[in-house]
Amino acid sequence: MSILNADLHCHSVVSDGTMTPEDLAARAAQNGVELWALTDHDEIGGQRRAAEAARAHGMRYLTGTEISVTFAGETVHIVGLGFDPDDAGMRHGLVETRGGRGARALEIAAGLAQVGIRNAYEGALKYVGNPELISRTHFARFLVETGACRDTSEVFRRYLTEGKPGYVPHRWASLKNAVQWITDAGGLAVIAHPARYKFTANEEYALFTEFKAHGGRGVEVVTGSHTAAEYVKYAETAKEFGLAASRGSDFHSPGESHTDLGRLPYLPGELTPVWELLADRIQ
Ligand code: AMP
Ligand code: MN
Ligand code: MN
Ligand code: MN
Repeated sequence: MSILNADLHCHSVVSDGTMTPEDLAARAAQNGVELWALTDHDEIGGQRRAAEAARAHGMRYLTGTEISVTFAGETVHIVGLGFDPDDAGMRHGLVETRGGRGARALEIAAGLAQVGIRNAYEGALKYVGNPELISRTHFARFLVETGACRDTSEVFRRYLTEGKPGYVPHRWASLKNAVQWITDAGGLAVIAHPARYKFTANEEYALFTEFKAHGGRGVEVVTGSHTAAEYVKYAETAKEFGLAASRGSDFHSPGESHTDLGRLPYLPGELTPVWELLADRIQ
């Protein structure tokens, strides 16, 4: 086992989490996290605050983000770690990636209005911490508030996923661009929660193959989104493709996330942890 309590995936109010970077840092430290990364969706606006808060709590820190990508008609998430947050290409790429979210949110609201859920845009906005980053999660919180659903997973199931009234197909960044932005900024690209994608075996093989060809070097093996069987499966995949392994809770909110910061099994020992490849990027 790689005995390091690293948590390299979570979200703050800068994207769709409910806690500030400072409160997340305190919670991570409380839970024994030794190496931390805040990975807001398509955003790095919280990086300086997170790094400072990590230092104040005696945790080591890696810069992070989670980039939305469209691959084979599905949304795939690519985590970037250890990049230079001032890199112009990276910053521009993220601005571009999150740029479509405003118009998409209006379309989501229009779809929900068709089934009688009114004022969802305004309702979702109440939960938004960053005007550039309105996400389905914010709509989900509003629909729980109105009593339309019991919890956010029910909202996703009934309203916000493919074929449902609030689902809006969207084109995110390309895999190639996302991996290159991260890599060119000195960071390491990681396929987030691979078990979550509805790919055939062939499509998944293509994802890993193309990811590697573009310079991607890591995959999340132990994540809050995987079952124990999936840890084993993606440990094998990491070895098959020669990828380093990452570990992260994907924590969003105390009320919603079932995996808390730092509370995950360690990475299997036969894998190379991503932090070994990022030793000189750790703050
Ligand atoms: P977006 O980037 O706006 O498409 O929102 C994606 C986010 O929605 C993910 O990062 C999760 O936080 C959340 N999400 C996606 N699917 C579900 C689900 N089934 N249950 C709860 N949250 C979900
Ligand atoms: Mn999220
Ligand atoms: Mn994700
Ligand atoms: Mn995430």
